[in-house]
Amino acid sequence: MKKKYDVIIAGAGVAGCFAALHLPADKQILMITKKGMEECDSYLAQGGICVLKDPSDYDSFFEDTMRAGHYENRKESVDCMIRSSKGVIEELMGYGVDFARNPDGTLEFTREAAHSTNRILHHEDITGEEITTHLQAAVKKLPNVEISEYTRMVDLLCKNNRCDGIVVLDGDGELHTVFASHILLATGGIGGIYENSTNYPSLTGDSLALCLRRGIKLEHVNYVQIHPTTFYSEKKERRFLVSESVRGEGATLLDKNGERFTNELLPRDLLSQEILKQMAKDHTKYVNLNMMAITKFDIAKRFPHIVKHCLECGIDPKKEYVPVVPAQHYFMGGIHVDLNSHTSMDHLYASGETCCNGVHGKNRLASNSLLESLVFAKNAAEHMVKIDGQRAWEGRKPRYVSNLDKSLSELAAIYDLDLDSLYDTKDRDQENRQLIWDEIDRENTLMDQNAE
Ligand SMILES: Cc1cc2nc3c(=O)[nH]c(=O)nc-3n(C[C@H](O)[C@H](O)[C@H](O)COP(=O)(O)OP(=O)(O)OC[C@H]3O[C@@H](n4cnc5c(N)ncnc54)[C@H](O)[C@@H]3O)c2cc1C
Repeated sequence: MKKKYDVIIAGAGVAGCFAALHLPADKQILMITKKGMEECDSYLAQGGICVLKDPSDYDSFFEDTMRAGHYENRKESVDCMIRSSKGVIEELMGYGVDFARNPDGTLEFTREAAHSTNRILHHEDITGEEITTHLQAAVKKLPNVEISEYTRMVDLLCKNNRCDGIVVLDGDGELHTVFASHILLATGGIGGIYENSTNYPSLTGDSLALCLRRGIKLEHVNYVQIHPTTFYSEKKERRFLVSESVRGEGATLLDKNGERFTNELLPRDLLSQEILKQMAKDHTKYVNLNMMAITKFDIAKRFPHIVKHCLECGIDPKKEYVPVVPAQHYFMGGIHVDLNSHTSMDHLYASGETCCNGVHGKNRLASNSLLESLVFAKNAAEHMVKIDGQRAWEGRKPRYVSNLDKSLSELAAIYDLDLDSLYDTKDRDQENRQLIWDEIDRENTLMDQNAE
C-alpha cells in the first residue's frame, strides 16, 4: 500500500466497483475490503434489479417508489435513479452480465411486491452474484486499481471539515495512514449490529460510526427495513432470504391453521407488521409460505437456490410449507449525500447502502437498491473528475501534501486520532455499535415527539 492515491474506495460491493469503473485510467485508486472480496451483500441479492423498461412506465415506477417510501423520498433522487436505469443496465450487459430472457430473446421482466407492473431484471435467483462477479472481475483487470483485502478502515483523516484520507488496519494488525484527493465510503449496511439479519455479520455500519464520531451529517438513521420473509431457523446464523419475487409469482402466506391472513404483495414494512401480528396471535415463531401455490412454472427452475437451501434444511417446498419470519434486511438511512453522492465534508463521498441520498424514503421498494447503488456510485466518480478538473485549472495542489512525510504520532496530533483505540478492534466495534444504536434511539424519540 502506498502513502497516497488519487482516490480511495472503502468497499468492493456494487457501489465501490462501479465507482472505480467510472474513474479515468490515469487516476491511481486504492480499493479496500474488510474481509474477502466476496463477503459483501451485493453478492447476496436474489430478486433482481429494476429498470425503466419503457418511457411509458416512468410515472408508475416513480409512484411505486414514492408510495413504498411513504412519500418521504427525495423526488429529485428518485427521478435521477429512474432516468439513469436503462443506461446502467446496458453498461452491466456490456460487462457480460446475463439477465433472464424470454424464448424470443427479449429481456424477461419479473415482478415483486409493491410494484404495479413487471419491471425487474433477474438472473435466476442470484442476480447480485451475477452482477457483482462481473463488476469485480472488470475492476481486477484495471491496472490503476490496487485492491487490498482484509484491510479495514478504522478512522478518517479529517481537519476543518475536509477529508484528507483514511486510517486502515491491515491483515497483520498494522496501522497505516493513506492520503487521497477523494475518499468514497461504500461500506454497505448495518445488519451486523443486529442479532437477526440477512446481511453479512461483518457489515457493521463502520462508515456510519466514523461519521458520527467526526460530526459528518447523517439522515434517517432509524429507517431500517425488516424483510418479511426470511427462512426460519433455530440456529444463530445469517438469515437466509426467501425473495419477494416468490410471492410476486404467486406464493401465499398461511397462518397456523393453513389460512391466508394477508395480502402477500403489501410493501415490506406493512407486510412484516402483518406477519408479526399473526405470529403473536397464533403464538408461533414463524408463519408458513406456500410455494406450492405457484403453478405456472417449476419452482426448482425459477428459484433453484431458494429451493436448494430449503432442501438442505430439510424442507421440500414442492411438498410442504416453508417456515418464514421477518428479519433486519436493509438500511434506508445513512450518511447524508447530495445527487453527486457528496457528504457534508469536503472531498468525502458515500454511496451504496451506507449513504442516504433519499431514493428510498422511509421504506425501500424491492429491487431498487442495486440500481440506486450503481447510479449514485457513478455520479460520485463523475463528480470527483469534475472537481479535479476545476482544481487543475486553478493550479491547486492536493491540500494534504505537507502532511505526507509526517510520523504516525505527528499525524495523530494533527487529525485527532486515538491510536491505542484504533488497534483494539473488539472494544472499538462495541463502541461503534453503541454509537449507532444510540443514534437510532435518538431519531426514534425525535420522531415520536414530532408525531405527538
Ligand atoms: C439477502 C439479500 C438480498 C438482497 N436482494 C436484493 C435484490 O434482489 N435487489 C436489490 O436491489 N437489492 C437487494 N439487496 C440489497 C443489496 O444487495 C444491497 O443494498 C447492495 O448490494 C449494497 O451494495 P454496497 O456496495 O453498498 O455494499 P456491499 O455490497 O455490502 O459491500 C460493502 C463493502 O464494504 C466493505 N467494508 C465494510 N466495512 C468496511 C471497513 N470498515 N473497511 C473496509 N471495507 C469495509 C465490505 O468488505 C464490502 O466490500 C439484498 C440484500 C441482501 C442482504
